[in-house]
Amino acid sequence: MTFEYCPKCGAKLVPKQIGDEGDVPYCDTCKRPLFPFSYPCVICLCVAEDGEVLLIKQSYGIIRYVCVAGYIKSGESAEEACVREIAEETGLEVRSVHFLYSKYYDKHDNLMLAFACRVNKAQPKLSGEVSEASWFTPDAAYDALFEGAYGRDMLQMWKTMSK
Ligand SMILES: [Zn+2]
Repeated sequence: MTFEYCPKCGAKLVPKQIGDEGDVPYCDTCKRPLFPFSYPCVICLCVAEDGEVLLIKQSYGIIRYVCVAGYIKSGESAEEACVREIAEETGLEVRSVHFLYSKYYDKHDNLMLAFACRVNKAQPKLSGEVSEASWFTPDAAYDALFEGAYGRDMLQMWKTMSK
């Protein structure tokens, strides 16, 4: 996202030379540069102690199996966002969080941060945003995910990492 007006005070931004960055949109009222940015999101491969993977179906949009995902809130770390999103959407408790990779997703201007999250296996408690959540073996999870899904890359990477 590139700013034209200050998101805080609404003033029109002016270009200002900032170090090596060149001209950056700048708010003369707030005295701050507004660097272009992408919205950071986490996407979580939830893995139980027996190796099974939890996939969910969202209640909106195209109904297919996906991994838990969500936006990182202001003031929150990526790891905290994983713990919160998993708790909100599935009620599951996270034991540990492992960074896998990041990827830019241009459709929604998102920086996707992919994590493998070890969770305590339990019956999921679904939020209103989730219509279904099921446990899969890694191979079955791979098949349940659509071609090109982040989850497929995450499964492959997790397999290599946890060998
Ligand atoms: Zn301002």
